[in-house]
Amino acid sequence: MADVIKDAICSFCGTLCDDITVTVEDNKITNAERACILGQSKMVGMFEHGRIESPMIRKNGELVEVSYEDAIDKAANILVNSNRTLSYGWASTSCEAIKKGIELAEETRSVIDSTANVCHGPSALAIQEKGLPTASVGQMKNRADVIVFWGCNPVHAHPRHMGRYSSYAKGFFTKKGRKDRKIVTVDVRNTDTAKLSDKLIQVEQGKDLLLLTALRSAINENDDVIPDNVAGVPKEDILEVADTLKNANFSCIFFGMGTTQSRSKYKNGDAVSSLVADLNQHSKCVMLSMRGHYNVAGFGQTALWEVGFPMAIDFSHGYAYYNPGETGANDLLYRGEPDAALIAAGDPGSHFPQKAVRHLAKIPLIQIDPFENPTTHIADVVIPAAVVGVEAEGTAYRMDNIPLRMKKLVDTEFNSDEQIVTDLIQKVRELKQR
Ligand code: SF4
Repeated sequence: MADVIKDAICSFCGTLCDDITVTVEDNKITNAERACILGQSKMVGMFEHGRIESPMIRKNGELVEVSYEDAIDKAANILVNSNRTLSYGWASTSCEAIKKGIELAEETRSVIDSTANVCHGPSALAIQEKGLPTASVGQMKNRADVIVFWGCNPVHAHPRHMGRYSSYAKGFFTKKGRKDRKIVTVDVRNTDTAKLSDKLIQVEQGKDLLLLTALRSAINENDDVIPDNVAGVPKEDILEVADTLKNANFSCIFFGMGTTQSRSKYKNGDAVSSLVADLNQHSKCVMLSMRGHYNVAGFGQTALWEVGFPMAIDFSHGYAYYNPGETGANDLLYRGEPDAALIAAGDPGSHFPQKAVRHLAKIPLIQIDPFENPTTHIADVVIPAAVVGVEAEGTAYRMDNIPLRMKKLVDTEFNSDEQIVTDLIQKVRELKQR
């Protein structure tokens, strides 16, 4: 007998689609209606992915199966005996687990950082400097008649974004969907998103800041200072886009890692904020970062309400200290500082630069994750977890910073990240009292 669960949330990308109808048979998801190929791979396909089946501890170079209690005990001992632990990941789990992760970092005087540091972290810095004129994706769906995709490719990274919230979405003031909208894509190449746009502005690699500055000049009617070509873009194209944005009823600039991780980094986000502020002198304009992991926004939100900083938080002084560039995960690893690491719901083994991974491989490393990944191969303690949003409920923040409650869809033998970290905190406190 199949169970049908309506309005389930897909916990894959920051779009957090909340309209999925899930069919469960024999405690397995056999169908996830409306989920895109990425969501399908998580909800239906996860049962074929390589799960970590048991807690493990590395002995004589090999990971061997141990009891949950032994794994918690070993992990807590590592944390208590280290002087500078790096706690990293936390983007693919619930806010409840993140809250516990921050508590554990404070208890062990660790540095805690999220995957945002290597994706939209620079946006957080830009927002601190210039603010975030934004809106919910619902407002964008209902109102936006001009959309700019800058350094992002939702066709592949957020496949339902264009249908639910942006290009094709039919809203109250945009009843004809795509026909009611003008779409501009700014990218270094002719992406599949660009192919579905009205105009591609092909910017030269690493020159987004120049182009943003030229656009601001055009919007502020200083056309005379713009050269004939800026960052590979002809002046007439810059003036045309400026005109389109100024004459919009409601425009929205979605920006991605092509902006935040290219040359000038957070200054690009800063310039997008300034551009949006300039445009608001003429019409309504908002901006939104295209968040990748489904709850990377949730780490920022939880950390902000817990300690006042969105990432790269160093508790080694006994209070929260934050200085990205100094206290980010890669900053520490490049300096060879951490003497232990806790990696939860993240995979630096795949995504960090070689030098950082080499240091991670040298130090005691605890991994909490449902699935085996390259980080597992350098871990000393591995604790399998339930898949949050499928096997455990919890809260996640959509890319527009709206919190949504994820349902538990199937049962599991594994503990949730929240439970595992709670057990770790308890064991650490016990050890510290001895
Ligand atoms: Fe899931 Fe993202 Fe696809 Fe929506 S767009 S179904 S959240 S992967």
